[in-house]
Amino acid sequence: MADQEATPPPQVGPLQLFKPLYRVDEVLSEIRDCLEIGWTGSGYKTLEFEEEWKRYTGLPHAHFVNSATSALHLAVRALGLSRGWLLQDEVITTPMTFVSTNHALMYEGLKPVFADVDDYLCLDPDSVERHITDKTRAVMFVGLGGGTGQLERIVDICRKHSLALILDAAHMAGTRLRGQDPGHLADATCYSFQAVKNLPTADSGAVCFIDPEMDAVARKLSWLGIDKDTYSRSEGGAYAWQYSVDHVGYKYHGNSIMAAMAKVALRYLDDDNMHRRAIKSVYASELTSKGFTVVPTPGDCESSTHLIQVLVENRSQVIQALQLESVFPGVHYRINTDYPMYAYGRGSCPNAEHLSDRILSLPNHFQVTQDEAVRISKIVTQSGVPAEATSQ
Ligand SMILES: *Cc1c(COP(=O)(O)O)cnc(C)c1O
Repeated sequence: MADQEATPPPQVGPLQLFKPLYRVDEVLSEIRDCLEIGWTGSGYKTLEFEEEWKRYTGLPHAHFVNSATSALHLAVRALGLSRGWLLQDEVITTPMTFVSTNHALMYEGLKPVFADVDDYLCLDPDSVERHITDKTRAVMFVGLGGGTGQLERIVDICRKHSLALILDAAHMAGTRLRGQDPGHLADATCYSFQAVKNLPTADSGAVCFIDPEMDAVARKLSWLGIDKDTYSRSEGGAYAWQYSVDHVGYKYHGNSIMAAMAKVALRYLDDDNMHRRAIKSVYASELTSKGFTVVPTPGDCESSTHLIQVLVENRSQVIQALQLESVFPGVHYRINTDYPMYAYGRGSCPNAEHLSDRILSLPNHFQVTQDEAVRISKIVTQSGVPAEATSQ
């Protein structure tokens, strides 16, 4: 065997920023249930998943929908935030987010008022308080990267000023604050189960209200405003086909194929998030030992660790250096006030502007082993210049 060809060295494949891990056989088996009984739509697996999500989060209600964007819109609608005068009612929100967050306000004619972010890249409570006026109706908080930032201080501010609180928890599936799902602290919490989020399906999400009536309104709105209950209750079985339409609703409900995927992903969510936290601690020790700042998680928060973000002064050089080694990082997010839609807020959030040019999200999924995290960190520390978290 001496002249046998030498084994080629292990190939390092390209490392994407995100790569969902699907448990294929389990997913196919759950989907097979739907196909065999001929039920792929709303109901069946969506109801099963809603029960499981309530049990997992401890929240009183859960409505499975087709995306977090829809969930956010339903939250804004069901909370009744807009009184109908275009851009007269305001919601204090973050510019450091995916545009869905702020579009959901615009859908209802609410004006997003941008407050600045803190070192966690989440809304800074002091800045929020400074932006409250008599037009303010609510605060929209994004748990960026999965962490809770200073959410409890935001809750206090909302109580003090009688403002509603929406939690964009798109990154927060599995996050716990003092052992509880942070959804307990908000009037409405919106989760994303999009393919690259922590509980990956293809596209789906959930909106969870504390108030049962808001949950009922959102359920009607997510299916064109149709109310099946009124006729079947009042007229009996002969009118079971009848329904009333009480609102101009939307086609936002989830379906059983997505719920089948979500049910399987939920079984693994805690383990997957534990892996993410382990990888983050490798990155953090490698990077901080060389003087780099990694966006932190508050001490009392067990974060889903959706993102691992490092701050660098020379981001495009670092991205190039990583790409040369087949590592593909990302940016979460470009400050929303850079977009023409939200340019009216330009200049109002100096920390967010500073961070928007310096944040870099590093790959964090099951193909990223601890050794890979060390290798990637080395590329960052060799090519990067450390940046400070604040503009002051
Ligand atoms: C992904 C994301 C959304 C939208 O989620 P979809 O399920 O894709 O609609 C909203 N907010 C934030 C912060 C996100 O990252």
